[in-house]
Amino acid sequence: MTSITFHGGVNDIGGNKFLVEDKGTKIFMDFGMSFSQEGQFFSQFLNARTSNSLIDMFDLGILPKIKGLYRRDYARHMGFDGDEETEIDAVLLTHAHVDHCAYISFLRPDIPIYCSEESKLIMQNFDETGSDQYLTLKERFQIYENNKGEISRATGDKVKVPRRIETFESGKEFSIDSINVEPLPVDHSIPGVHAFILHTSSGSIGNTADLRFHGRRKDDTENFVKRCAESDLDLLLCEGTRIDVPPSITEYDVESEVAKIVNDTKQLVICGYPVRDLDRLLSFYIAAKNTNRYLVIDMKQAYLLKLFDESANLKGHYPSPTDKNIKVYIQRGSWGLIDKDIEKFTERQLLADYGTWQREFLDYPNAIDYRDVQKNQKDFIFYCSDFRLQDLIDVKPAEGSSYVRSLTEPFNDEMIIKEKQIKNWFVHFGVINREDDWHQIHVSGHGDGEQIKYVIENTNSKKLIPIHTIHDEYHKKWHSNVHTVNQHDKYNL
Ligand SMILES: [Zn+2]
Repeated sequence: MTSITFHGGVNDIGGNKFLVEDKGTKIFMDFGMSFSQEGQFFSQFLNARTSNSLIDMFDLGILPKIKGLYRRDYARHMGFDGDEETEIDAVLLTHAHVDHCAYISFLRPDIPIYCSEESKLIMQNFDETGSDQYLTLKERFQIYENNKGEISRATGDKVKVPRRIETFESGKEFSIDSINVEPLPVDHSIPGVHAFILHTSSGSIGNTADLRFHGRRKDDTENFVKRCAESDLDLLLCEGTRIDVPPSITEYDVESEVAKIVNDTKQLVICGYPVRDLDRLLSFYIAAKNTNRYLVIDMKQAYLLKLFDESANLKGHYPSPTDKNIKVYIQRGSWGLIDKDIEKFTERQLLADYGTWQREFLDYPNAIDYRDVQKNQKDFIFYCSDFRLQDLIDVKPAEGSSYVRSLTEPFNDEMIIKEKQIKNWFVHFGVINREDDWHQIHVSGHGDGEQIKYVIENTNSKKLIPIHTIHDEYHKKWHSNVHTVNQHDKYNL
């Protein structure tokens, strides 16, 4: 018998955590964070306590209470056993968006994570440019005796533990004990997204992951639908994030609409887009090329492009960070020594201004800083993230500059307040003078109603369970055999 327990990702957008059990084989599909569940209890200054994170999260119903699943350092310290063996054979990761992957950092490092190479590199980017622990765990609550004979808290290399990551190839089936897994690429708003078809002892199960048809990888989604139809699915887990909305523009329209605005702009073009959406980066890159400008990216994006460029399989899929149409923006470091007297502060101090991962960009032939952008405004499309708007103070956009916002529109009160604040920055610098100076050019990573209807009808599954949605009424309208589940429900195939 085969069953699926839905520990998240139902009646909710994201937080997917589906436990599949088949003849003693146990695998999770995704282990993501639910924004809505975290938002119910937590905020910027109110979080699970480091000393008790697992128990805090169990108590609030955010993480499932399963022995042998979580990091031993946490489990032992927090009185949740930790000495037992694990029963979980693997986690299959659809993609590296936090609503699918964030809670991997709570898992034991010996539970293998199966993912695409793209997802692995994105998680590496998270770890190395921030403080995440996807590929390498930093064990907590460990002590050692120092050379004075005192008990000290262990940190740094002493506590680093690599996580087991297994990369799969698109379309190439592999097995985890009794379950055969077919990873199939689909179109979404981050590289390397894979839907799955699981061939189990009691039938086949499809999981759409997050998908759409209006990006650069429409054919991939088309092929997934076709493979589902050929696999005679017993059950399809089908996303429905935007099932209630009409069709939108495509990623190619984003590219050409951005180019139009750039052509109409006499000075600097400033833009914001999701930092890890490399297909969107490509839209701005192409728009820059077609308008004879350089795309100026930040160091985080440069680092991600570098990781992709160094991979034998992925080289050439996206521009390299030294591409002739790209400039890498060197932001002010912690002391801001970039424009200070180097004779006084020394080269060594300048380097100390930056993290290890950032330092090599200082020597790139295409590295620039605010002085170059300020001086030659009409030559650039300048990427400015919502978290580094202070760069505008250095760059000083001239009269006749514009801003293109290529990010999701606000859908809750918190986001509306945040967007208002962002607008204030551009109004302050005279980039936004009237309502129609605000150029919102974006397409979602999720299929609209027509697209999801197409997936439901053409995958031809015997049964359907809606996931990643709060609108299962559409699934019910378009499929005669829909089963709706609640969080923690178990469904037997
Ligand atoms: Zn998602």
